[in-house]
Amino acid sequence: MDGIYETRKATSPTNGEPTMELDEQIFKHVIKYRNKSLQALIRLCDGYFNSFIRTRDKNKLCLCCGRAKIEHACHFKSAGVYKSLRWNEINVNGGCAQNNIWKGGNLDSYRVGLIGRYGEEAVLELDRLASEEKKNGFHLDRLKIIETIITYRNKLKPN
Ligand SMILES: [Zn+2]
Repeated sequence: MDGIYETRKATSPTNGEPTMELDEQIFKHVIKYRNKSLQALIRLCDGYFNSFIRTRDKNKLCLCCGRAKIEHACHFKSAGVYKSLRWNEINVNGGCAQNNIWKGGNLDSYRVGLIGRYGEEAVLELDRLASEEKKNGFHLDRLKIIETIITYRNKLKPN
């Protein structure tokens, strides 16, 4: 299974059913971004996704330490290692600057916080997706990134 696709299906306002409107948006953006490198698209997507996470969690406390206020979007499974979990809404949560700088240093308390917020099944699913990527790799193509950019840009739009 494909982590990003699953995330999109679970969170998209259309439940993963492509609509004419979305297809048209994707088509427009494929053209608009045609000169952007894959890395530039990833950075653009990070910007939209991370600001979605900070907005979603703005009234919560840091998931790792449970004390400090939210300053960053923090990955549980590293974005650099796991492409399939880079824009996964359970894998990424608002955290304080200290936890984000420590990176791997505070993963045990991150896990405890994740289980508290989403339940053990959801965290085991992240483990499963991570080991699947380790075993089979994960291909991140331009279309998937563009679809993810549009998804989070739309979510950030005020209603
Ligand atoms: Zn913290």
